[in-house]
Amino acid sequence: MVLRAKYFKNTDVLNSKLGYGPSMIWRSIWGSMKLLKEGLVWRVGNGLNIKVWGDKWLPNKPSHRVQSPIKFLNAEAKVTELIGNDGKWNREVVKATVNEEEAEVICNIPMSYSGLEDKRIWAYSKNGYYSVRSAYHLDISRKKDSKGEPSDGRKIKEGWRELWQLNTSGVVKNFLWKALNNCLPTNENLYRRKVVKKPVCPICLREDETVCHVLWSCPATMDVWAEKESPVQKWKSSEVDLAEVWRKLIAELPLDSMEMVVSVMRYIWLRRNGWIFERKFTSPGSVLQQARANLNEFQQAQQKGIERNKTAAVEMGSSKRRLCEELNIQKAVLEGDSLEVIKVVNDREECLEWHGQIIEDIKGILCIHPNWILKHTFREGNRLAHFLGQFAIMFSEELVWIEDGPEGFFSIVLQDKICNDTITDI
Ligand SMILES: [Zn+2]
Repeated sequence: MVLRAKYFKNTDVLNSKLGYGPSMIWRSIWGSMKLLKEGLVWRVGNGLNIKVWGDKWLPNKPSHRVQSPIKFLNAEAKVTELIGNDGKWNREVVKATVNEEEAEVICNIPMSYSGLEDKRIWAYSKNGYYSVRSAYHLDISRKKDSKGEPSDGRKIKEGWRELWQLNTSGVVKNFLWKALNNCLPTNENLYRRKVVKKPVCPICLREDETVCHVLWSCPATMDVWAEKESPVQKWKSSEVDLAEVWRKLIAELPLDSMEMVVSVMRYIWLRRNGWIFERKFTSPGSVLQQARANLNEFQQAQQKGIERNKTAAVEMGSSKRRLCEELNIQKAVLEGDSLEVIKVVNDREECLEWHGQIIEDIKGILCIHPNWILKHTFREGNRLAHFLGQFAIMFSEELVWIEDGPEGFFSIVLQDKICNDTITDI
């Protein structure tokens, strides 16, 4: 690598300097690296490479950096100093080092029990992998931040994929899908089907109520979009076609802002219905608040669910592994009903998600035991596991049955067997 010899001989590429008299190629790589650096964050492994202050390593925070002032550890302290000898967070030290809110975020970062190394991951995509599209969004939002105004006119062809990719509830996605397909019962649509006498907007009484009018350009709607917390605060709303609005949103907003916009659109529609059916009309500020609250609630539940599932999968993995080792079972099929967990564990690509440490740990175990297979099974196809899980809650000591089981267990095994015989090939 000629570039390496010349420009970053003694350092890694991310810390390289532009240097004197740089070539065109190097100048362009160096330029895009600034963007790359901005989007790269650390996922905690053993914490040896990450500085507590200055480095980006906190999930769920826009800056990803610790903001608490330095008081307990010194400015150069590494994250490993917050980790106890048992490989878990040392809560006392964490609490003494950062404020309560950041301590909570840190202690919720799962730890790898196999001592994985710290990993650089890309913060602007869900799977942690760098993609041109997410970098493009980051670039656009940076430019917007520095100029205060979005650059306009950029269009891209697709639109459905973006919609289904959003981290919002199915209700919200379906709502937008209907809106984009002009399937909402607006006055204009009802008028065309001869259900109402006039197509006019029931709120402003000035223009026909098309989908784009009600969700984007009605003066009452524009008040919502002009609020301070709106992701499209200073946008003009002259579009007459919602598909055009959607293309513009895709081109100019990062995913999380799009999630907010879609959630707001749904609340604008609910407010419109509230006006027609109950003569209630919410203020622009509370439309945004409700949309934000609803979105946060969904995303937090989602996140907790994923973490719980993953943690449960690891625990399941480790207790079954112990049993398999004790009984010297060489071939085993471990079943789980979380399709998402099973999919990432069985994926050959390294998992670069924020909580991927756990997945990499499971992969490590499966790697040592090539004859152990992790398989997905539907919850209905694994009633026995649920039965045993509920049974186990009542006991604190370990109970082991060989070729036998607790009362009620055989009838469930038989039901499961029928189900498995017909569904799977084992
Ligand atoms: Zn209107």
